[in-house]
Amino acid sequence: MPSALTNLRDLLTYAATRKGHDRADRAVLTDLAVDADDLGLPDGVEVRWLGVAGFALSSEGTTLLIDPYVTRRPVGDLLRRRVWSSDPVLLDRHVPRADAILLGHTHFDHALDAPAIAARDGATVYGGRSAATLMGLHGLAGQAVEVEAHRPFEIGPFTITFVPSVHSKLVLGLKVPNGGEITCEHLDGLTGQAYCCGQVWGIQIEVAGATIYHQGSADLLDDEIGRREVDVFLCGIAGRQVTDDYLGRILPRLAPRTVVITHHDDFFRPLDDPEGGGLAFGVDVARFVDEVGAVSGDLRVVSLA
Ligand SMILES: [Zn+2]
Repeated sequence: MPSALTNLRDLLTYAATRKGHDRADRAVLTDLAVDADDLGLPDGVEVRWLGVAGFALSSEGTTLLIDPYVTRRPVGDLLRRRVWSSDPVLLDRHVPRADAILLGHTHFDHALDAPAIAARDGATVYGGRSAATLMGLHGLAGQAVEVEAHRPFEIGPFTITFVPSVHSKLVLGLKVPNGGEITCEHLDGLTGQAYCCGQVWGIQIEVAGATIYHQGSADLLDDEIGRREVDVFLCGIAGRQVTDDYLGRILPRLAPRTVVITHHDDFFRPLDDPEGGGLAFGVDVARFVDEVGAVSGDLRVVSLA
């Protein structure tokens, strides 16, 4: 049986006993937690996890955001196809002032807050065609840049490269949910489902002699990544079970020193949930650590609080 199918079976078994796994996974995350200062990056490079696949990276007074999403709404709003927009209070509470926003794809849990942050800060949003469409819907087309594959560009002390990628086929291993480009033509049509995936990218960020690689969805185009040597891999782990040999393929290609677990939290619950938030469906953090160990014994796997 192909490994993605075996993994899918395991995922369903895992889901059936989810509560116990959630407890075990939280314990693992606590064990792996490090301060962002301990990622081994050069002095003056600051990293902050914003929840889901979101990060803020700062150096020499320039701040980049990757896939920031803090306006987290309950799953019922998605299922009832409610239109929801960014919450400025949550943005001010959780998202630092940014010079640029990089989008790996345009599902709502990666892209929904980008236009409002761009409007707040005068920041430029870099991504694929759907990212530009989304900005245009908000009247912010002038602050959108459609990137070219593999063409490095500079933002302050950062050099950024967008690497073509693909999204994991979360619908039973067969299909990307809400695939294709964003086609919505009015803001009042922007339900969660209207945030179609768009072009998917891995994002390489070089700063102060260090290399960081962000993969928001757990799949890849092997030849597009080629061979790299990255210091820190910001590794989205949700949905990896439906991708054949995800870690066996991506880890040797990136050869990271440190793997940061990301996209493991339940983004249908608030970032400052008094109950401590939850974990993404079927994320199986405990097994992830073993999976990395099976590929390479000397990789450091960490989580950020
Ligand atoms: Zn996605």
